[in-house]
Order: sequence, then C-alpha cells, then structure tokens
Amino acid sequence: MNEQRPTGRQSRKSDGRIVIGVDLDNTLACYDELFHFAAHQEGLIEPSLPRNKEKIRDTIRLLPQGESQWTRLQAIVYGPRMSSATAFDGSEDFLRHCAESGARALIVSHKTQFASLDGQQVDLRKAALSWMKAKKFFDPNGCGLSPDDVFFESTRAEKIERIRSLGCTHFIDDLAEVFAERSFPRDVGQLLFAPHGANPPRQDIEVFRTWRELDEFFFHDQRH
Ligand SMILES: [Mg+2]
Repeated sequence: MNEQRPTGRQSRKSDGRIVIGVDLDNTLACYDELFHFAAHQEGLIEPSLPRNKEKIRDTIRLLPQGESQWTRLQAIVYGPRMSSATAFDGSEDFLRHCAESGARALIVSHKTQFASLDGQQVDLRKAALSWMKAKKFFDPNGCGLSPDDVFFESTRAEKIERIRSLGCTHFIDDLAEVFAERSFPRDVGQLLFAPHGANPPRQDIEVFRTWRELDEFFFHDQRH
C-alpha cells in the first residue's frame, strides 16, 4: 500500500495520523428537499417556500402549535422518511478518499434513540444506520466505513466527550454552537459545513460550503 498521508492543515496526532470526526444530520445527510416535501404534504407550508430547512422551521414555528408541529415533522423526517434524504454532493467521495489515504473518518451524531410519532415510538438511530447502509457507507468498495465507526450520543455534551475520547484531530459540523461549547476540545480543528453560506463565527473556525472544498482542504496534495 502506498504510504500516502492526508495533507489536512492544523492538528495531527503525534503519530501523524488524521482522525476526522463528522456530524451526520445536515452535514452528511441533506434534508432540505425532504423537509420541504414532507412539510408541504402535511399541509404546513406553501410549495413556493425555499427548500431550506431553517426557513421551513421558522415558518412552521409561527403556526398555531408550531413548536409541536415542527417536532412532529422532525420525527417524520428523521424516522420513517429518512430513506428519502440525500447525501450531500461529494460527501461519499470524501469518505472514500479518507479510507484510501489512511485518514480515519468517524461519524459522531447527536441523536436520541427514539422519538414519538402519533403514539408510536420511532427508532431514529436505526433509521440513520439503514440510510448509511443504503448509501454504501459500509461497503468496502464504497465509503469503506464500518458500523463501529458510527457513534450516536443523546446530548451535545456527550457528543463532545465522544469527539474528545476518540482522539479526533478535526471535526466537521453544520452547527457552530457545537464548537462554541466551552467543553469542546481546543486542539481539535473546527470545520464548519455551511452549504447555505455563513460568516466564520470565530477566527479559528474554517467555513466550507461544499464537500469538494473539504476534500481539497485535506487531500489537496494528492490531486496535484
Ligand atoms: Mg448536524
């Protein structure tokens, strides 16, 4: 095997390895279309509303019982409808490049196990694992991950603790609030995935609009 090393700037472990922790929801899995479709189907939004999860959430929250309508819609989208979510463009290639280059990719997701939906308990973690399997995340010829590389945590604090205990050198997340937590380890590179754009909330946070940009950040030298 070629002794290829990823070139990601910032931190590395003392043995030179890179361990890239990746969030799941709205970082690898894209729900913009699905939230729009499901919200319209449930009669909560007009079809002209942009296909943007934040805009859909803000609109629904203004409805009567908006908060519980939004909670119910999330249970639908992250549960029985998750199979219709897409993977962000380039994310599967990125995971494959990690496997090929010897960087370790791990998925760390803040996701409770169950949500209630119309009197039933829906297993959100099972839905997420089925989605990853369908997207070939665990296929040796696909993304090359193992289900053992996936960690679900019930709270944000537990997610941060997991990022620390796994020895991540970098973490990719769509929520800047995760990086803003005081407990977030300062020696972990903070990479904000912002497909709809964002100003860097702090100087030490790098912002990426696409997975191709992240690919370039870590694997640039192997492409040239
Ligand atoms: Mg997320």
